[in-house]
Amino acid sequence: MNYETIIGLEIHAELSTKSKAFCSCKNEFGGEVNTNCCPSCLGYPGALPVMNKKVVEYAVKAGLALNCEISLYSKTDRKNYFYPDLPKAYQVSQYDIPLCKDGRVEIQVNDEIKPIGITRIHIEEDAGKLIHGTTGEDYSLVDFNRSGVPLIEIVSEPDMRSPEEARLYLEKLKGILEYLEISDCKMQEGSLRCDANISLRPVGQKEFGIKTEIKNMNSMKALQKALEYEVERHNKVLSEGGTIVQETRRWDEAKGITISMRAKEQAHDYRYFPEPDLVPIILEEKWIEEIRKTLPELPDEKKRRFMEEYGIPDYDASVLTLTKELSSFFEACAKNHKNPKAISNWVMGEVLRIMKEKELELKDLKINPESLRKLVDLVDGGVLSNTGAKQVFDEMFRSGKEPEILVDELGLRQISDEDVIVELVKKVLDENKKSVEDYKNGKSNALGFLVGQCMKASKGKGNPQLINKILKDLMRI
Ligand SMILES: [Zn+2]
Repeated sequence: MNYETIIGLEIHAELSTKSKAFCSCKNEFGGEVNTNCCPSCLGYPGALPVMNKKVVEYAVKAGLALNCEISLYSKTDRKNYFYPDLPKAYQVSQYDIPLCKDGRVEIQVNDEIKPIGITRIHIEEDAGKLIHGTTGEDYSLVDFNRSGVPLIEIVSEPDMRSPEEARLYLEKLKGILEYLEISDCKMQEGSLRCDANISLRPVGQKEFGIKTEIKNMNSMKALQKALEYEVERHNKVLSEGGTIVQETRRWDEAKGITISMRAKEQAHDYRYFPEPDLVPIILEEKWIEEIRKTLPELPDEKKRRFMEEYGIPDYDASVLTLTKELSSFFEACAKNHKNPKAISNWVMGEVLRIMKEKELELKDLKINPESLRKLVDLVDGGVLSNTGAKQVFDEMFRSGKEPEILVDELGLRQISDEDVIVELVKKVLDENKKSVEDYKNGKSNALGFLVGQCMKASKGKGNPQLINKILKDLMRI
């Protein structure tokens, strides 16, 4: 039987406010353990929380950017459970009335635009962090610096149909949160975390199959790989007539498998009830409109502008606007340049390749926009061949030197002097009378051979376009 994959994601993003969600403790990553805490975020009896206005503002910003309806009235609720990193034994969250709901985000799947529904966005506080010893201690330590750090949880509709779509959705969402500057979205530091719900159903069936939840995927690659593993596992169980157990599984990056953690808990297990220490969140339309005015140009808008302003194709514009950093880099290169498509090819090709290979961020590259513009100019001006330019690019990355210096240092300057090329071509034509004859008799592949001979004679430095043109001119019947 053929199965269809159904995926929905729950994303937690830590908000980059200055202070925590309900107290004035500093919200920062990596401080000395247990220095950013107070009676409120340590859950001391009698300490009262106060809502940080910035948290609501950031969450509304996310809601507006993701085309959500913003609730003018919402409230907070206690999600009760015990864990050593949660001294209050409950997390302040939002249960039945989230701050934002019914949104939508578009992803680019090959040539198609696919909308993914956003069920809800709600405010939540983070828990502390357990530090497990690495040398066999029989205890763990706990750091409460993260306790009470504000989060938004973004829950999607089960609209994704493949692990690739799930990755594209997460990439798009991460990009939007970065554009908004409300979260630094570092998956490796845990400021952006993703859980996935996945199930399979026979193609054509309406009801969903039994789902499993996967946790602990801390990179885009891990998300896709964990889901691919899970699709295969579900497929195997179902094909053999078995039943999927509804449970939470953990992705083991080293082993490349998911492992069962526990049976899936239901909402009623948490005994949600309204948080009595915080007042409801009541918003005015006017304030929401003020926040809307502060929204920056977002990826989809930027994409349309890039297509119009730089005349680049849909696909290029999607890739280049995925992150704020990449879009700014492209724009710095392409602004007032006469060949934006060539710039786009370089950024999408070599720049992304080198970032991926060396696992570097754009800001860590030694290549600045001005140098890349010059490199494209050298190719367009016939000074460098495309192959030569790639060599220069690699060297620019290594040494940070300017392309016009590297052209000569690497001996890659093309011969584009017409007189020199004419001499060279004449000599090759003299030595290859048979091929000239063939060409004149309509054998077009003879031209390719002659270009090859000229390139050889120029020790690979002749400008191929120019050689081509002069060859044709001189052999004109
Ligand atoms: Zn505090």
